[in-house]
Amino acid sequence: MSLLVIGSVAFDALETPFGKTDKIVGGAASYISLSSSYFVKPVNLVAVVGGDFPKSDIAGFQEHGVDTTGLQIKENEKSFFWSGRYSNDMNSRETLVTELNVLADFDPIIPEAYQNCEYLMLGNLAPQVQRTVIERLQNRPKLIVMDTMNFWMDIAYDELVKTIALVDVLSINDDEARQLSNEYSLIKAARKIMAMGPKYLIIKKGEHGALLFGQNEIFYAPALPLEDVFDPTGAGDTFAGGFIGYLAKAGDLSFNNMKTAVIHGSAMASFCVEKFGTERLVNLGQAEIDARVQMFADLVRF
Ligand code: AMP
Repeated sequence: MSLLVIGSVAFDALETPFGKTDKIVGGAASYISLSSSYFVKPVNLVAVVGGDFPKSDIAGFQEHGVDTTGLQIKENEKSFFWSGRYSNDMNSRETLVTELNVLADFDPIIPEAYQNCEYLMLGNLAPQVQRTVIERLQNRPKLIVMDTMNFWMDIAYDELVKTIALVDVLSINDDEARQLSNEYSLIKAARKIMAMGPKYLIIKKGEHGALLFGQNEIFYAPALPLEDVFDPTGAGDTFAGGFIGYLAKAGDLSFNNMKTAVIHGSAMASFCVEKFGTERLVNLGQAEIDARVQMFADLVRF
């Protein structure tokens, strides 16, 4: 059940209708690692930060069972920085700043102890870096899940398509699925994207839930209607962490079990949005997670 996670570990500055943050810890791999740590330990992390990244936050990851041997620290450089602003209904966001900094020439070195991982989560990063990780693994994992975003579709489309061809599951949002496929209908988009390689496709629709496409099946999971939504940042990554974490724990890759994994991912994402950044993800208990999963089951049973 060993899990390897790569992706950005970053500083984010966020603006939502409920407030603004200065630089706080974010990044795809931060959300994925924290979320999946509720299902499997250790979570083996490969990422890069600058000397400005707080050592206390690295210790915080370790307390969650995240192995940071593969986290490179470039003492004289700056961490990746991203800033985004959400619209009033929080369904869309505008990227204000992307400063790649240490990510610009990131060479993902895989520690020997991370070889032979069974599950690989390729969090949001340059697609050529994601592909390098696959190429550097001596054995192909049982499952490779990949997340990406419009930024890479805009600037590295060809590289992205080459990487997508190598993964088992692609997880993207509805706008990204439309941009990637050039199709408005999500059914047509799914067909085109799966023809690029992945056997499964997850299309996230924010507060409207998520769709899981298999070869001949579709599953729809709602998002939980929540009283408090403060900050959707990282919801997609937290979802992915819960999804792959659940599969790694269960070890069953049937479509039926993937449905349950989508519900666990959705439950983890529902926590993420309740507070700014990773705040809500650092102190969850198993009973709270189980209760949320049960709320999903109750919501759709009729
Ligand atoms: P999500 O809200 O799940 O799409 O993910 C938000 C996270 O993605 C933030 O914490 C950012 O630091 C990170 N992020 C934004 N843009 C990029 C990018 N181009 N490459 C890698 N990570 C990014």
